[in-house]
Amino acid sequence: MSRSVRTRLLPAIIAFALCLPFAQAQNVELPDMGSSAGSLLSPEEESRYGARMLYELRRVDMVLEDALLDDYIHALGYRLVALSERPEQEFTFFVVRSDEINAFAAPGGYVGINVGLMHTAESESEVAAVLAHEVAHVTQRHLVRAYESMQKATLPIALAMLGAILASRNTSGDGTEAAVIGGMGLLQQQAINFTRHNEYEADRIGIFTLAKAGFDPEAMAGFFARMGRATRSNSSVEVPEFLRTHPVTASRITEAKNRVEAIRRNPPAVTESAANEARFRLMRERAHVLTSSEPAKLVDTYRRELRNADAAHVASLRYGLALALLRSGQAKAALGELDVLLKDAPNDLAFQIPRAEAQRLAGDAAGALAQLEALADVAPDHRAVQLAYADALNATGQKANGQRAMAVLRPIVAKYGADPTTQATFARACELAGEDARALEAHAEVALYTGRPYDAMEQLKRLLERPGVDYYQRARVEARVEELKPYMAELERQRIRREDQDS
Ligand SMILES: [Zn+2]
Repeated sequence: MSRSVRTRLLPAIIAFALCLPFAQAQNVELPDMGSSAGSLLSPEEESRYGARMLYELRRVDMVLEDALLDDYIHALGYRLVALSERPEQEFTFFVVRSDEINAFAAPGGYVGINVGLMHTAESESEVAAVLAHEVAHVTQRHLVRAYESMQKATLPIALAMLGAILASRNTSGDGTEAAVIGGMGLLQQQAINFTRHNEYEADRIGIFTLAKAGFDPEAMAGFFARMGRATRSNSSVEVPEFLRTHPVTASRITEAKNRVEAIRRNPPAVTESAANEARFRLMRERAHVLTSSEPAKLVDTYRRELRNADAAHVASLRYGLALALLRSGQAKAALGELDVLLKDAPNDLAFQIPRAEAQRLAGDAAGALAQLEALADVAPDHRAVQLAYADALNATGQKANGQRAMAVLRPIVAKYGADPTTQATFARACELAGEDARALEAHAEVALYTGRPYDAMEQLKRLLERPGVDYYQRARVEARVEELKPYMAELERQRIRREDQDS
């Protein structure tokens, strides 16, 4: 398929998004399936479709790539998955760069949570409540069931969902809008038809998972009620997306409360601790600062909030302040705030990693490197630490340090090969070390995981034509090309289908 076809499709995606509010799209959550009508998705297909959605989101820079936050949301999600109806199901949790209060699930256990939702939540249990709800959509196979009923619709569903997210950033439409409007009625109706039953089931099962995992089961009702009040009390306030997809009705809150009563009679072991809550607050501010377009403004906000903060919030607000200072180029001031935080928690890597970065930016690159080397020694499996250390090594521009960074990252690449940040850092290390062929391989992986599969394939094939590729690398790259062929064939099939639909 030519490049022009791909570019021609983009306006259609955006136009489609404009006339399809996320309210409907969220519950559709399904890609355009290439298989024949009536056949169920295999777990492999489900996971391929979900992965593709994640890669596409990365392509438009909607995924917050941060190893510390990734680890946090993964651990939080898996506390729920372990006690869900299908603990063996694989899940991928990720943080989405969007201020909308929303979360969503896609086939294959891909669950995205928006920064906006994290930022609005007042406790870890509230975030967990939403995650438990999304996990239940996956474990109850709502997506697969929805797929069966959606097969009659001929529109590219996955792109509808993705496009709706895109629309929140891109408001330019064009003439193709009219072409897709025809299918809208059908799509909306179908989405709404399976929504209510599935939503209640996700609530019901989610709340039990939440309680079993030791979170506050009232968080779900509380969060919904609070969002509902905020919406009603001020009609000019835009309705949060999660409410549009999950309308808060009195009965929904009552049911959630009744279920809590039932759980209360047989209380599970509550493992929620003050430490978890403190960690949540730190990560909430981290997500907020890392996605802010105006970190300098946040500096003022945090300073003001710190003056009146109660004891429980001082550390997280100071952490937000430190990161906002760091992001707005005030490294020395950031260093000061991080040192205050480290007095109470000298071993906290969430403080130590940005401290080393602040140290480097403040002019002490050698000190920062030594600090990160010490951290890397004590935390050999910690992705965020190893990435920060490798970054600092790469920043020296020295060949020997590139070789060192390669060695440091090899076990991380083996474990987190599907993480584009890890692959990109490894690629830079390879270049510095003079291992150009190995760098190209890593660049191809970056392309694949950031939604550029054609580039990835091209790069791998070009690599095979290069002289000086050793036997082992050649075998590895040839195997990778073979591995990707079914995926590429699937993309081709779907492009052809979409081209037919557009014309
Ligand atoms: Zn739902």
